[in-house]
Amino acid sequence: MLYPKRAIAMFRKVSQLEIPRVEMLTNGVWGKDKAEVEKLAKKLKGAGLNTLGISVDAFHLQYIPLDYPRNAAEASIRAGIENVAWNVAVIESLDALNEYDAKTNQILKTLQPVGIEAHIHKVVCVGRATQTLREYFQQTSLEGPCEGEPPIGNVLVSPESICIEPSGSVDVCWHLPLGNAKVKPLSQMISKYDWRNSIITEILVKEGPIGLVKLARVHKHRFKLHNYFAKCHLCIETRKALKPHHPEAYS
Ligand code: SF4
Repeated sequence: MLYPKRAIAMFRKVSQLEIPRVEMLTNGVWGKDKAEVEKLAKKLKGAGLNTLGISVDAFHLQYIPLDYPRNAAEASIRAGIENVAWNVAVIESLDALNEYDAKTNQILKTLQPVGIEAHIHKVVCVGRATQTLREYFQQTSLEGPCEGEPPIGNVLVSPESICIEPSGSVDVCWHLPLGNAKVKPLSQMISKYDWRNSIITEILVKEGPIGLVKLARVHKHRFKLHNYFAKCHLCIETRKALKPHHPEAYS
C-alpha cells in the first residue's frame, strides 16, 4: 500500500482471473488519513479484495500509531470487505508474561471494540529475530529434510506460492529464487520449476539444511550448529555462504 494504485490494479487483475481468494496483509499505515482511508477501502473492495489481515502487535506498533490500523480496519469493514482480521505475532502466547506478548495482549484489548477476529501466529526464528529475540527461543532439531516453514507448508516439493521481490527476484522460500521476473517470464519459471533442477533445493529436499552445511564445508565454510535455532535459520545462513559458489542456483 506504499503504491496503492499498483496494488489496486493487481487485485483487479487477480479478480479478472477468477482467483477466489484475494488477500492482502498490511500494517495499516494507509489508515493515517481518515478521509483518504475511506476512499482506499472502497477501491480495494471494488478491485475484488476479499480478505484483509492487518498486523497489530508489539513489534509493528513500535513504529505505527494504533489509530492507523484501527482506521484501516473500520473503513474496510464499512466498505464491505468480507474477511477483515487482525494479524498478530506472538513469541509464546497472548497470556505469556514476556514484555512483547504482554504489550500485544494490551493492544488487542484496546482494539476489541472494532469487533474482528485476531489470527495469532508465532514469530518465526529467522532474520532479525535471531538477534533481537534470541533470549526467547529454544533450539529445535536441525536434522532432517526441509519440511516447509510454519505459515506456508512444504514450499519446495509442491510450492503453492511465490514471493516477488521489488528487485524482480521470484522466491519460492526466503531468499531462494527461481529466477528474476525482469529477465525471464514468470509463467516459464513456474511451469519449469522442479526441486531436482538445483543442487540447493535437491539437498534441502533430500537431506535438509545439514546437507547444505556439508556442501559449505567443501567450500571451507564452517558453521557452529549450536548458534542456530531451527532448520530455517540454518538454511538461510548456509545459503548466503553458498551463493558465490553456486550462482546458477540463485539466478
Ligand atoms: S528456509 Fe529452508 S528449510 Fe526452511 S522452509 Fe525454506 S527451504 Fe525449507
